[in-house]
Amino acid sequence: MIRRAKIICTIGPASRDPETFRRLVDAGMDAVRVNFSHSSHEDAAQTIELAREVSRDLGTPLAVLADLQGPKIRVGVLPGPVPISNGEIYVFEALHDADAGTTAGAIPITYPDLASELEAGDRLLFDDGRIAFSVEGMDGNRVTARARTDGTLLSRKGLNLPGKALQVPSLTDKDRADLAFALEQRVDYIALSFVRRAADVSALRELVDDDGVLIIAKIEKEQAVRNLVEILALADGVMVARGDLGVELDFEEVPIVQKRVLRLSQESVSIGITATQMLESMTASTRPTRAEVSDVANALLDGTDVVMLSGETAVGEYPVEAVEAMDRVARRIENESGFLEDPSDIGAPTVRSGVHRTVPGAIAGAATEATHRLGAPFLITLTTSGFTARLLAAQRPRVPILAVTDNSRTYRQLALAWGVVPIHHDEPVGYDGMLARARSYAFEHGLAEPGRHCVVTAGLPFDVPGTTNYMRVETL
Ligand code: PEP
Repeated sequence: MIRRAKIICTIGPASRDPETFRRLVDAGMDAVRVNFSHSSHEDAAQTIELAREVSRDLGTPLAVLADLQGPKIRVGVLPGPVPISNGEIYVFEALHDADAGTTAGAIPITYPDLASELEAGDRLLFDDGRIAFSVEGMDGNRVTARARTDGTLLSRKGLNLPGKALQVPSLTDKDRADLAFALEQRVDYIALSFVRRAADVSALRELVDDDGVLIIAKIEKEQAVRNLVEILALADGVMVARGDLGVELDFEEVPIVQKRVLRLSQESVSIGITATQMLESMTASTRPTRAEVSDVANALLDGTDVVMLSGETAVGEYPVEAVEAMDRVARRIENESGFLEDPSDIGAPTVRSGVHRTVPGAIAGAATEATHRLGAPFLITLTTSGFTARLLAAQRPRVPILAVTDNSRTYRQLALAWGVVPIHHDEPVGYDGMLARARSYAFEHGLAEPGRHCVVTAGLPFDVPGTTNYMRVETL
C-alpha cells in the first residue's frame, strides 16, 4: 500500500549523520526541513548534500524545505539567567544591534522599534508563552512591564506580542542571506515564518523570481489567519505552525484554525502542512502518547497533505521511531474504510474555489471521476511544473497518482504532494515515452496487471507548463 500523506523531518544534530539519515528515509521521510533559526550554512549544506546523495542511491525523491526564521523577536544576550517573580517590575531595552549591551539591569530585546510600537496593557510573552508580562510604560527605547508569571529568562528566547501588528519587515537581513544561500543550493521549497499578509509572500516571490522554488507561508500570527484567503492565493502551500500560533492566539483557538487552514488550502490547491509537537514525547520515549497518535490521525482527517516532525527528529533520542510511528498512524487512517471511499468526510474540495472551474480543474475532476467509475488502479499525469499532479491530489482520488516528469526539481517537489508517486523521466519528453515510463513503473512495482483501464492527463504541448488540457483513457 502506498501512503498518501507525506512526512517532513526537521534535520538537526540527532539526524545529520548518514546512517540515521538513511534510516529516516527507509522509515518513510519524504522531505527534509532545514531550519535557519538553528542551522548554520555549513550544517545546512551538509544536510542538503546528504539528501541529494541518499535520494540518488535509493532512487527515491526527497524534497528539501528551507525554513527562514522571519522577523522573530528575541531576548538579546544576557550575562546569565534572569529570575522572574510574578508581580515584580522589569525593564526591557530595545537594541539597534542585536549583540550590543544594555544599561545595567535592563533585559535586551532584538527589535529596535519595540518601545515606540507598544501601549500600556500590551502583553509580552517569552519562551513559548511560559513567561508573561504586561506593559506599564515606555521611556525612550526602554519598556517597563510587570511580570504575570514566575520563571527564568534565558538569552535568545523568543518574544511574542499577541494581537500586535508590528511594523517589522517581513524579511530580515539574515533571511535575505539565508534565502540567497538556499537558492544557490537549489532547495525545492522556501518556508517563510511570521507571514502577516499576502504582500509578505509577494515580497519573497519577487526575490525568488522565476527560480521554480515553491513558497510555503507559515501561519502563526492572528493577522495571517485573518488574511488567509489572500495568502493562499499567492503561496504554493501553508504550514499550520502550531508552536507560535498557540502563543499568538489563545491555545484553544489552534484546532479551529488548523481545520480552517487545511480545508481552505485543499480548496485552493495549496499544500497543507501540519507542524509542531505532533509526537513531542518521542524526543525522549520510544512510543507516542495516545493523545499524540490521535493528534496525527485528526490532522489527516482534517485533510492535511503533510505532517511534520520538528524536535523529534532534529534533537530527539528516537528520530527513526518517530517517523515509523507517523507512518503507522497515516497508513492505518488511510486504510480505514470510508477515509478514501468518501472523501467528503474529510472536507474534499467543493467547487467554490475558482481553480476547480478552470480547464485544468475540470480535467482533474473528470479524470478522478472516470478513474473511480472505471475502477482504475491509479491515475497517470504527465507534468512539467507538477501543478496538475497537485490539482489531482486536491480531488482526493481513491488511488495513487503516478506523476511522470522530466524536471528534476518537480520530481523532488512532488515528494510532498498528497497521494503522488513522482517518477523521473530522463529522456526527451513526449506522450508515448512518458506513458511507457509510467506503465513500466506500475508493472515493476506490482501496481496493476496488463489490460486494466487507466486515465491519463497531460498538458500538450509539454513545453508550456501549467496548461493541463488533455485527458485520455488508456489500456495498460
Ligand atoms: C512553529 O512555530 O510551530 C514552527 C513550525 O516554527 P519554528 O519551528 O520555526 O518555530
